[in-house]
Amino acid sequence: MPILRLPATSLRLNINRSPLLAVLATVILATACSARGGTSSGASADPDAIDVVATTSVLADLVRQVGGSHVAASSLVPPGGEVHTFDPTPADIARVADADLIVTNGLGLDDWVANLARDSGTRAPILVLGEDLEGVTYFAGDGAEGTVNPHLWMDVRNASRYAARIGEDLARVDPAHADAYDAATKAYAQRLAELDSWAREQIGAVPEARRKVVSFHDALPYLADAYGLEIVGTVIDAPGQDPSAGEVADLIEAIRATGASALFGEAQFNPDLARTIADEAGITVVTDVYTDSLGDPPADSYEGLIRWDVDKVVEALQP
Ligand SMILES: [Zn+2]
Repeated sequence: MPILRLPATSLRLNINRSPLLAVLATVILATACSARGGTSSGASADPDAIDVVATTSVLADLVRQVGGSHVAASSLVPPGGEVHTFDPTPADIARVADADLIVTNGLGLDDWVANLARDSGTRAPILVLGEDLEGVTYFAGDGAEGTVNPHLWMDVRNASRYAARIGEDLARVDPAHADAYDAATKAYAQRLAELDSWAREQIGAVPEARRKVVSFHDALPYLADAYGLEIVGTVIDAPGQDPSAGEVADLIEAIRATGASALFGEAQFNPDLARTIADEAGITVVTDVYTDSLGDPPADSYEGLIRWDVDKVVEALQP
């Protein structure tokens, strides 16, 4: 099983240091236990369902597809939230403390989970979906040298690899339902293979000269590589870092020089900056592409997210 290998980052939430927070966390723990089955906890009909806490809503949906009724899956970052800059609360400590399995992406996307897991005292295994996957070509990240871009799930074939890893780990944590997890993993892989082919056909039908695009943050290299887009720039270097006036000017120049067709803003970020840049450069802007987080229906599942995004991309790139 992949092991979480993360450096100790800044300690924002350490209940051992604060008696008040410790008391608060205990109270919230009791409340969270009694409230299980509510909207955020991934209600399951099975009272013995194992409790899986994922960092993001995208990963929680993959767990749901593979785990079915034997699993209650929920996400720490709520739909519409921002995973890179997420700041866990004491209530999140309680959820992690109580989990049977913690599911993360790794590769720097959700590093904060390391502190959260330590502070919660959880004994739940931590599954890292994105690291050391066979057959994957990893793209460089936007951080320090040696970092890897974590947004692998935007290539549907990688989401299928994630689902396979989830199936194996659910079977390890809950061997009584191993056959069900295996069957669900295979059925889901079939649906994802169809989704992958559909996405390739849809974007492949757009004239190649129209397929140069700008993304808001660096979330699209795997999608672009899989389905034939070319990313000519990103608006922000990283979530939480607004570009300087000079960087905006450089991006607008790059858009004009390359003949990029569209700028894809993402639903979890303020659309104003994307609109301003696209208007200035004179290209189409979409402000509600989903990447790191699920959204409202029909983008409230991983498959729905991909269909939504591909439809938006194809529409925006029409000549
Ligand atoms: Zn991201």
